[in-house]
Amino acid sequence: MTRTPLMAGNWKSNLNHQEAVVLVQKLAWTLQDKKHDFEKAEVVVIPPFTDIRSVQTLIDGDHLSIGYGAQDVSEHDGGAYTGEISAAMLAKLGCSYVVVGHSERREHHAESDQLVNTKAGKAIAAGITPIVCVGEGLEVRQAGEHVAHTLAQVDGSLAGFTAEQVADLVVAYEPVWAIGTGEVATPDDAQEVCAAIRARVADTFSSEAAESLRILYGGSVKAVNVASIMAQPDVDGALVGGASLQADEFAGIARFY
Ligand code: PEP
Repeated sequence: MTRTPLMAGNWKSNLNHQEAVVLVQKLAWTLQDKKHDFEKAEVVVIPPFTDIRSVQTLIDGDHLSIGYGAQDVSEHDGGAYTGEISAAMLAKLGCSYVVVGHSERREHHAESDQLVNTKAGKAIAAGITPIVCVGEGLEVRQAGEHVAHTLAQVDGSLAGFTAEQVADLVVAYEPVWAIGTGEVATPDDAQEVCAAIRARVADTFSSEAAESLRILYGGSVKAVNVASIMAQPDVDGALVGGASLQADEFAGIARFY
């Protein structure tokens, strides 16, 4: 089974809709100029909700091969939930992916594995692939409990899904101490945890699901360090924050091969 690498750029709470359009245009031109092979790496941008419509219009209008998604989704189907964006709304905007359980949401909005599980389920039901984020903080890493901690998040976040559903999911291993700090995990660190996630999915669901599931690494990925991380057998791509805001840099990451 070959898994197509996925490079997903999480813009977080940055850029307005005009800046979003300029970034996607520059990214598309750069990838075209460098003759990027989208079979070697799928490229996805994850703008704030307010930019998704502009990004959709540009990508659809210019028939770009870049995909797009959202940074979060409501646990509710819709109705009287002020401020919430439902999975059906994201599907209507053509989102292929949605990030759930990013460490910033777990930390600042107290999102539990159970909530992440519900959100991932809503995404799946709407035909959107969840990118389920897991990963340990610095204290857990220093205590040597990073694998057990991350696997517990995987168990809770994927609970109740079928093997077929899990096969199509994306899990992003993002050690919190590496996010936005410039301190990237070593390739061996990334491989250790990504391999453990795949083994857990094989045990809990099926070996087919484990083989097909894509596992990304996230945390200070840049063009200069991406190749060594991507050389690891259980790393199938990257979830990129800061570096995805620069078209040249993100294109360099996508062209890791
Ligand atoms: C992220 O926010 O998911 C992330 C990995 O950020 P950065 O690449 O900036 O570390």
